[in-house]
Amino acid sequence: MEREGRMAASDDRVVLGLIGTGFMGKAHALAWRAARAVMGPELPEVRLKTLCDPDGARAAHLARSWGFAGWVTDWRRIIDDPEIDCVAITTPNALHRDMALAAIGAGKAVHCEKPLAPTLADAAEMAAAAAEAGVPTQVGYNYLHNPAFRHAERLVAEGAIGRVVHFRGVVAEDYLADGAAPWSWRLSAASAGLGVLGDLGCHLVAMALALCGPVARLVGDTRIVHPRRPRPDGTGEATVENEDTATALLRFVSGAHGSLTASRIAWGRKNRLAWELTGTEGTILFDQERMNELRLFRRGRHAGFETVLTGPEHPPYGAFCPAPGHQLGFNDLKVIEVAGFLRHLAGGPPGRPDFAEALAYERVIHAIDRSARSGGWVVLGEEDG
Ligand code: NAD
Repeated sequence: MEREGRMAASDDRVVLGLIGTGFMGKAHALAWRAARAVMGPELPEVRLKTLCDPDGARAAHLARSWGFAGWVTDWRRIIDDPEIDCVAITTPNALHRDMALAAIGAGKAVHCEKPLAPTLADAAEMAAAAAEAGVPTQVGYNYLHNPAFRHAERLVAEGAIGRVVHFRGVVAEDYLADGAAPWSWRLSAASAGLGVLGDLGCHLVAMALALCGPVARLVGDTRIVHPRRPRPDGTGEATVENEDTATALLRFVSGAHGSLTASRIAWGRKNRLAWELTGTEGTILFDQERMNELRLFRRGRHAGFETVLTGPEHPPYGAFCPAPGHQLGFNDLKVIEVAGFLRHLAGGPPGRPDFAEALAYERVIHAIDRSARSGGWVVLGEEDG
């Protein structure tokens, strides 16, 4: 038996700079490290070169912990490093634009967290710059990568529920349900842009568009329920500048219609990214709080809903675990997302979604906001027929 071998040094290597070390910074660090180990050596090797956070002690500590070769406090040093060919941006929304445009300008591949930017104009500028430069891009709409969601897309494509006619979606969390919860960058129009629509609603829109196609028109309503919150440093209160809740009625180009509602103040809901999709022959139900299952009703087949528990027959579940029902988690979705991007960097199809596709999702959330301000329907396209 051969005792040991030496792997050839891979030329097919991606050198990564990661900007931001918060919630998403950690999810990315884990994902970029794990993607090849989970999916296999067809993916390029990833060298974790530089981690950036403005707090040097934090950057140094986390670079050691996450396996980065080095750290910096100024993100421009990542852009200026010619060896780094891929940049992942996980900072507050208002910083995405300058970082992405600089990385695109330097010819680097860019993965950016959602939403692309606080304003639609900035998001459009980012998508246009990426298209013009021809650099690979991807945006962090991780829920699209859930094997359960992919199975739902397959069921729809195979006609398992007939023609899709009605989407009813909700995304609800309670991280700001307490009116005394402190103010943060997410509540500032300049730092975040939209409120719950940009933070959570865009994920629901991404799923709705994937299942129902583009939106023809919509009407929206939004509300700030807690208009002032204590500053985190204890120096009084700050104004909440974007919506806590949002609701919209939608008509899709296909003629299907539906509703979306989003809340960051929904006591008891932790990540209820849930929808019901009805077709002429059945219904599919999904709830991210039970992310390893779908519920399916097919006319004439069941007395009630059948629960489909994900397993190796729902790719890429099997890349993580050979046994069905053992369940994937939130961070695994980021691994699948990043693996898709690495596959693209190795010559495969574009990462899902790229900047252009993410811009289409973000047009919808901004249209909901515009409609709420104007009180009228906003037209985004023409309905078929
Ligand atoms: P966070 O507040 O936890 O982390 C933000 C990080 O950015 C911090 O490490 C902060 O130090 C760093 N940062 C701030 N200014 C910086 C600068 N000038 N240079 C370098 N780093 C800087 O925020 P988060 O929850 O990780 O959110 C970050 C982004 O990820 C947002 O765009 C958010 O919408 C998105 N997000 C996506 C998901 C998802 O499911 N895809 C979930 C949460 C957040």
